Amino acid sequence: MQDAAIQVLVGARLATLADPVDGPGAVVIAGERIAWVGPQAALPADYASAPRRDCEGRLVTPAFIDCHTHLVHGGHRAREFEMRLEGASYEEIARAGGGIVSTVAATRTASEDALLAQALPRLDALLAEGVSCVEVKSGYGLDVETELRMLRVARRLERERPVRVVTSFLGAHAIPAEYAGRADAYLDEICLPALHAAHAEGLVDAVDGFCEGIAFSADQMARVFAEAKRLGLPVKLHAEQLSHQGGTALAARCGALSADHVEYATEDDARAMAAAGTVAVLLPGAYYFIRETQAPPVAAFRAHGVKMAVATDANPGSSPLTSLLLAMNMACTLFRLTPEEALAGVTANAARALGLEDTGRIARGLRADLAIWDVETPAELAYRIGFNPLHARIFAGRS
Ligand SMILES: [Zn+2]
Repeated sequence: MQDAAIQVLVGARLATLADPVDGPGAVVIAGERIAWVGPQAALPADYASAPRRDCEGRLVTPAFIDCHTHLVHGGHRAREFEMRLEGASYEEIARAGGGIVSTVAATRTASEDALLAQALPRLDALLAEGVSCVEVKSGYGLDVETELRMLRVARRLERERPVRVVTSFLGAHAIPAEYAGRADAYLDEICLPALHAAHAEGLVDAVDGFCEGIAFSADQMARVFAEAKRLGLPVKLHAEQLSHQGGTALAARCGALSADHVEYATEDDARAMAAAGTVAVLLPGAYYFIRETQAPPVAAFRAHGVKMAVATDANPGSSPLTSLLLAMNMACTLFRLTPEEALAGVTANAARALGLEDTGRIARGLRADLAIWDVETPAELAYRIGFNPLHARIFAGRS
């Protein structure tokens, strides 16, 4: 610590998501870490001669964390969007080659370099809004080779940009056409072997799945989670988005990091999540884009003390969203989160949802991942639409 370069932020309005600091605050950054945080008036004398950066009253928050994205994928689904607006049915879109099948086809035929090139502008949009950490899932390959390729691209993002990437293996995302009606065979012949291969290559930080009538049942997901457990990998789940399938209860039983979407979760689910410490990841972009009408049970989550995160769910089919600021606004307008809850949802609770303990808050010893905003209060971050007040982003101590 002594040798690390020291810099001191002063004149900050601090939203630490940890111990509150009233009045002008200061943050001492030593190398990649936060060495001290508190009221500027109490800044230890040792740091008096260190280089200072005056925040001039700006709001300083932990850098944002997008804890649920499908950032790496081939192609887009703008034509499908158009067809739906023209009144086409789900079947008509599927017959025209639309739906997830089209993203799977576009992803399977794209090279690693092509997938990387397509993902980078989406990543850049997130970084421009103060994001320091992004979760990226596989799940559009649905064959061994492409699932691994997606995860390799996710890892490469970290080498291309100053960002931390956390990967999720999502082989249990959908049943590919060649396995139609044979979900269990798909799991045994493709999904689980792909998980083993990806894990052996060091590509998997967690295991995810889609528990839904149109995807995998809770029993099928339990098989995937058992395999994850054998490999020592944490789990998470897309659960109760379109109907109640028991995915949230399964997630809680397995000690999952998070249950995501959770629109149809019940009071009992909330109780089980709270007991298991499973974070509810709210994805208002998907709710908005596919015009869902059932909002997640936020009051039950609050009542039982379930931590709530907010993420973009950036994906080509149901949430082509690459703005966490807009996701915060939607979480407030559509799900009635308070701006403080929305901020916690993209910082401290998003870190929790990824099992990360060294980021997402401004506290001594944590990574110096910070965002400096041209606003004075967290409410200003959540209430504007389509406006980016980021002044500066600090990633592991570096601007
Ligand atoms: Zn998703």
